[in-house]
Amino acid sequence: MEYVTLNNGSKMPILGFGVYQIPDQAECERCVLDAISVGYRSIDTAQAYRNEEAVGRAIQKSGIPREEFFVTTKVWISNAGYEKAKASIDESLRKLQLDELDLLLIHQPFSDYYGTYRAMEEAYRAGKLKAIGVSNFYPDRYIDLVQFTDVVPAVNQVETHVFHQQGQAQEIMKKYNTQIESWGPFAEGRNDFFSNATLKAIGEPYNKSIAQVALRFLIQRGVVVIPKTVNRNRMEENFNVFDFELTAEDMAKIVALDTGKTAFFAHNDPQTVEFLTGYGKKGLE
Ligand code: NAP
Repeated sequence: MEYVTLNNGSKMPILGFGVYQIPDQAECERCVLDAISVGYRSIDTAQAYRNEEAVGRAIQKSGIPREEFFVTTKVWISNAGYEKAKASIDESLRKLQLDELDLLLIHQPFSDYYGTYRAMEEAYRAGKLKAIGVSNFYPDRYIDLVQFTDVVPAVNQVETHVFHQQGQAQEIMKKYNTQIESWGPFAEGRNDFFSNATLKAIGEPYNKSIAQVALRFLIQRGVVVIPKTVNRNRMEENFNVFDFELTAEDMAKIVALDTGKTAFFAHNDPQTVEFLTGYGKKGLE
């Protein structure tokens, strides 16, 4: 495994396993156990995924020492604000059966995320969180947060894949010393991702799949990746990306695939904000 060093000295695996859209507890536990057996040690969950308990159980059942894992979760919109966020951190730790999280992110840049961040800074100083950061913070909100908080976010997890490469956002994060992490490294299959002719042709001489080329591209750009799959063979495929290197020419061909636009929805589009805040208001129960 390769690691990145976060701005506080913590080491984070550059490749992890995401568990979004695996709400069934038994299925999620099985997936995380499979992923662990393949070799994944970094697991990305969130309060809103409703599967923190399953992740916690799988980690326990694996029998692998806690210190080998890097566990991330995220505070949902309905837990925004100092008091609610503070309680939700303890609740996430309880569900995950952990004394300390490796990384806690603010899931969405909405509601009282300043209050949330204060609760996170406090828990960070108290030793409950090894690192803290944000997700879906576009450069405007990200810079604003950095300017008015004490602890610089260690990570910003944003949609990043070959069709939306986030070069400019990554440069801005680099300036303030925040690690970029990709969500949706395969764009969840959108834009015919898994039949892309350019990625396919690039992978052929290396005997590598479209998924492997896409992950390798991000890793070579210093982006942390957390692909999701429920399929053990694909877990292996997605893990097996450290035995080849894309050339500068390969990289340039992939850079040309960038549309500079989201394949999902933009977090600064009023319709998206209305949808996410409306959904967030309802809470998780
Ligand atoms: P993704 O990893 O881009 O794509 C997952 C999809 O690709 C699934 O449909 C999966 O199908 C398929 N797949 C995986 N590996 C494959 C392979 N080798 N060949 C063919 N198909 C493959 O999407 P994602 O789950 O949205 O993103 C990854 C993680 O990022 C999430 O799990 C979550 O932890 C995080 N995330 C965070 C946010 C946020 O707001 N912070 C948003 C989205 C995601 P099967 O499962 O059927 O194999």
